[in-house]
Amino acid sequence: MRENSITKIYGVLGYPAKHSFSPAMHNAAFKYLKVKARYEKFEKSPQDLDGFLKTLSKNNIYGLNVTIPYKEKVLPYLNGYKSYGVRTIGAANTIVVEKNGKLKGFNTDYLGFYRHISELGLRPKRVAIIGAGGAAKAICYILAKKNAAEIYIYDIQKYKALDLVKKYNELFPECRFRPAATLEGLGLKDKDLLINASPVGMRDEDPLLIEASMLDSGIFVYDLIYNPPETKLLTQAKDKGCRYANGLGMLLYQGVESLGFWIKPKKPPIETMRQALEEAVKRC
Ligand code: NAP
Repeated sequence: MRENSITKIYGVLGYPAKHSFSPAMHNAAFKYLKVKARYEKFEKSPQDLDGFLKTLSKNNIYGLNVTIPYKEKVLPYLNGYKSYGVRTIGAANTIVVEKNGKLKGFNTDYLGFYRHISELGLRPKRVAIIGAGGAAKAICYILAKKNAAEIYIYDIQKYKALDLVKKYNELFPECRFRPAATLEGLGLKDKDLLINASPVGMRDEDPLLIEASMLDSGIFVYDLIYNPPETKLLTQAKDKGCRYANGLGMLLYQGVESLGFWIKPKKPPIETMRQALEEAVKRC
């Protein structure tokens, strides 16, 4: 049995994880709430993943966020409980380590994304998504639930876009999911929202995803990446006169929802967390 007096450890599991602003946001929240806990980055290679996930309790780890590329890979380890969101979406971004060492999995990405686009006043009907991994699945789920009519998806791994489309067409017959074989196939000219849910743009050397000629100013461009705050895609969107946003708002709200699971019945201090993120952006 773990002691109540020791500092509880939480963290973000990813590969890479160094880009993450989650520690700033969660450590600020713990401090504000006077919770004896700290939040770290756990950058684990695929070879180290199994050993890490099997020793969480032993290492005093009480909860995790899961980021690229592990949101789907953690599913077999969720031996305690999988929320409806995790079971439907097929990806988890939040883990609670129970007292008996079992792992409970939740998905707060779709809530985070939805809270942010609602704040931005977006009600998208025709959407194009680049990337068909864990984050894209969460986004498709909430967009379809909130009455999107058509969602085109491109992934460099064609089978991932095909699998996602097949599954979601069955789940949401009222929304038309379509795979795009190329970026041009996303048909951006008649879409109202373009989302980058791929990791392309995280590194300086990453290419620009979309040619200028493919964008019209009427489309809103949303990049899930928040570090760097302005990817090449967002610079392009700005130059074309499009409205655009990075993923900082989504990060905030998915983090608020995750923290809620870890500190129950306490309530996450949203403004403290928002401020911590804004300060992290200034530092980078
Ligand atoms: P993931 O599960 O690894 O999925 C990313 C998908 O994009 C993979 O299928 C990947 O293929 C594909 N991809 C890679 N390069 C591509 C390209 N050039 N064109 C099209 N698809 C490409 O990752 P994830 O967890 O969904 O995360 C995706 C991104 O969203 C990351 O940058 C992550 O940091 C960000 N994110 C942000 C938030 C937030 O709160 N703001 C939340 C979730 C995720 P491969 O498997 O071949 O690489």
